Amino acid sequence: MKAVLFYRHGDAEVLEYSDFPTPEPAAGEVLVGLKAAALNRLDIWTRQGWPGIKLEYPHIPGADGAGEVAALGEGVSGWSVGDRVVINANLGCGSCPACLAGWDNRCRDWHLLGETVRGTYAEYVCVPALNLYPLPAGFDPRAAAAAGLVFHTAWHSLIRRAGLRPGETVLVVGASGGVNTASIQIAKLAGATVLVVGSNAEKLALAGRLGADHLIDRSQEENWSRLVFQLTGRRGADVVVDNVGTSFPLSFRAAAKGGRILTVGNSGGPKFEIDNRFIFGKHLSIIGSTMGTKSDFSTVMDLIFSGKLEPVIDCSYPLYQARMAQERLESGEQMGKIILEIG
Ligand SMILES: [Zn+2]
Repeated sequence: MKAVLFYRHGDAEVLEYSDFPTPEPAAGEVLVGLKAAALNRLDIWTRQGWPGIKLEYPHIPGADGAGEVAALGEGVSGWSVGDRVVINANLGCGSCPACLAGWDNRCRDWHLLGETVRGTYAEYVCVPALNLYPLPAGFDPRAAAAAGLVFHTAWHSLIRRAGLRPGETVLVVGASGGVNTASIQIAKLAGATVLVVGSNAEKLALAGRLGADHLIDRSQEENWSRLVFQLTGRRGADVVVDNVGTSFPLSFRAAAKGGRILTVGNSGGPKFEIDNRFIFGKHLSIIGSTMGTKSDFSTVMDLIFSGKLEPVIDCSYPLYQARMAQERLESGEQMGKIILEIG
């Protein structure tokens, strides 16, 4: 098969488009012939590497993908060759206490497709049959791939972890990233009022199209927490979606008393200073999560397939141009998901 892979860590130039043996599904696994993959920031971090990272080289990145069942491993039932599927990238062992309790994203032997095991930048990938979800006839595999990781992550964080309720106010820090565009839509669907802080008018216009009620341009107002207070009748936001991290000081200021600060990542870097006085003084909760559960995946994908939630696609590249696609993601200019078209 054709795949995009790397033998060493570094910038986008380490990515090679080359031949690689088509994997064979082990017991309980399915071979998926991919039609589309979607990029995530995780792909960049995995390519760059981090201290202690252990991969089997060459590594194939990619967490998101959709396509068709191409072959079944031993003992797989309920799927047939040719079935259309979208992949849940969250690989739990299925048998530890967390998995058995339905918290498979807290599995003690947890893996993420494309991070520690070979992923979807390829014509074929093997995944456990339990990680497939049916893709309805006529639904664009590119849109399904675009939705997978980011909507799953945002749903788990906002709905499962934060318990977002109708009538609450949600502040999303960032207007155009995948998890942010998903969070805006999920918060609106849940009946919340949504405020968005963005870096420029174009990205904020996208947030507005997705239903955000109030748009705050941080290029016009550095201390945007002041505007959040004005827009919420000096109350602050009940829930703050902050996947930047370095913006926590302003998010703490912008939160209402008793507010929940949600984080699923740190695009601004992993380490930053916080002022603890805000946390106890304002009764704040900081809620972290990674990915979501199987039940979250089916719930959110059904909302995608019925059109109640809509993945935002920036652009598509053929698989062999994965290097250009990752460079676009690193530029930060994209508005929504970047897709790889396969086959
Ligand atoms: Zn487990």
